[in-house]
Amino acid sequence: MKQLHIVLFPSMAHGHMIPMLEMAKLFTSRGLKATIIATPSFAAPITKAQNSGLDVGLVVTPFPPQGSSLPQSIVAFDQMTSPDITSSFLRAMELLQEPVEAILKELRPDCLISDMFLPWTADSAAKFRIPRLAFYGTSYFSRCVSEQFELHKPFNNVTSDSEPFLVPGLPHKITLLRSQISPFFLNESSNDFGKLFKQMNEAWKKTYGEVVNSFNELESAYANHYKNVIGRKAWEIGPLLLYNSSNGGDKNHQRGKESAIDEHKCLAWLDSKRPNTVVYVCAGSVATFSQTQLCETAMGLEASGQNFIWVVRKNKEDDEDWLPQGFEERVRNRGLIIRGWAPQVMILNHAAVGAFVTHCGWNSTLEGVCAGVPMVTWPVFAEQFFNEKLVTEVLGTGVSVGNKRWILRESEGVERDAVARAVEEAMVGGGAEEMRRRAENYKEMAKKAVEEGGSSYNSLNALIEELSNYVAPTKQDTN
Ligand code: UDP
Repeated sequence: MKQLHIVLFPSMAHGHMIPMLEMAKLFTSRGLKATIIATPSFAAPITKAQNSGLDVGLVVTPFPPQGSSLPQSIVAFDQMTSPDITSSFLRAMELLQEPVEAILKELRPDCLISDMFLPWTADSAAKFRIPRLAFYGTSYFSRCVSEQFELHKPFNNVTSDSEPFLVPGLPHKITLLRSQISPFFLNESSNDFGKLFKQMNEAWKKTYGEVVNSFNELESAYANHYKNVIGRKAWEIGPLLLYNSSNGGDKNHQRGKESAIDEHKCLAWLDSKRPNTVVYVCAGSVATFSQTQLCETAMGLEASGQNFIWVVRKNKEDDEDWLPQGFEERVRNRGLIIRGWAPQVMILNHAAVGAFVTHCGWNSTLEGVCAGVPMVTWPVFAEQFFNEKLVTEVLGTGVSVGNKRWILRESEGVERDAVARAVEEAMVGGGAEEMRRRAENYKEMAKKAVEEGGSSYNSLNALIEELSNYVAPTKQDTN
C-alpha cells in the first residue's frame, strides 16, 4: 500500500500545537509520513522532537506573514490583548493562505489536518483535491453542545444571566447559564471572532471530517451523538498525550515550552509529600486572572489546609502586589508557586498529587483524566464551561469551584471560601475517594484505548483505511 502523507497545520497556541505534534508522532508510529507546518515561534518543540530521532517533517512559514499589519513581536494567541491586535492577528492568519498553498503544492500530501481556526484551509485542500480533516482540540461533549447551540440557540429562552437553560437534545440533562457561554454564540458576527466562527461553520461544508483527541470509553454517548445524530464524520484517536510517552521522542514533561522550574527540584519537592496530599493548580497557557482573583486564590489555597503547587501566569512581569502579606512565608512548607511554564504532565503523574484545579482546557482535562486524579473545575473562557459539565456531571470525577462568568481576560469572581471548599472536597473525605476511584478507572480505560486493539487504535485504523481509499469528488459531485 502507498505510504500516506499527512500534513498537519496547527494554529498559534500551545494548546493547539501540543496535540498536533503528538498526532504527527502517532501517524509516523503507524507507518504514515507526517509533516507539520509551523510558524517560527512554535517550531522549537518539533525541532527538538526531530533531534531526538522523531521522523516528522517540519516546514516553517513566517508569521506575521507578508502584508500583515501585525507587529512582528505578536506571534501567539495569548498576545491578542486588544480588539485591534485581535483583528490584525486574525487577518494575519488569513494571509497565511498563499504561503501555505505554496507549501501544499510542493509537498502534495494525501490529507490536510488543520486547526479549527483556519477555515480557509478547507478551500486549500479542495484546490489540491485532498480531504481536509478539522481539528478542534476539544471533547465530543463540547462539540455536541456547540452544535446544539447553533441549531437551537437555547440561551435565547431565558431572560436573565442567572436563569439556567437546558441544552436540548443531549444524552444527559445539561444546563448552563448565559453568562457562561462565549459572546460569539450570543451575537455571532458582532466582532472579528464572531466572523471567524461563521467562517468555521461555513468551512464544514467543505471539510471531510474531524479527528478528535478523545477516546470512546470516556464519552461514548457524545461520540455517538456527534456522529449519528448530528451526522458528522469523526474519528476519536486519543488521548494523544499517551502516544507521546510511549513513543520515545520528547519526555512527557517537555511539552510546549521550557519549564520555569528546575524539574529535579520540583520532583524532590513532590517526593517529600505523601501520596494524594498535593493539589496542583494551573489554568493553562492563555487564561489570566485579575490581581483580586489571584489574592483570593492564594487565601483559598491557604485556608484549604492542603499542600499545593500553584502555577501563576502573570500579566506584568514585576507585579506581585496581589500576594497576600506574609503568604509565602506562611505556606513555605506546603506551597510551591511556579511563575511561568510548569512541567504539568510530570507533576500530574506524581503519586503525591491528589487533585487538579484546572481551567478545563481540553488538553489539561485529558491530562487530568490520564493521571487519574479528581479535578476542581474552574473554567474561564472558550469551551471550558462545557468541559466542566462533562467532568462534574457526566464523568463524576470533579467538583466545580462555581465560576459563573465567561471572560477572556483578567477573570475574577471566585471567592476564597469557594476555592477552599472545592479543594477540600476534591482532596479529602468520602466524596473525594469516590471521585478518585472513578478517575482511576478512566485512567485505565485511556491506557487501553491506545493499545493495539483498543478503541482509539482501531479508530485510527479505520481513518487510515478511509484515507487510503479516498477519491476526490468530481466537479459534478460538488455541484
Ligand atoms: N501547559 C504546561 N505547563 C503550563 C501551562 C500549560 O505544560 O504551565 C500545557 C498543558 O499541559 C496543556 C497545554 O499546555 O497540554 C494547555 O492546553 P489546554 O487545552 O489545557 O489549555 P489552553 O492553554 O489552550 O487554554
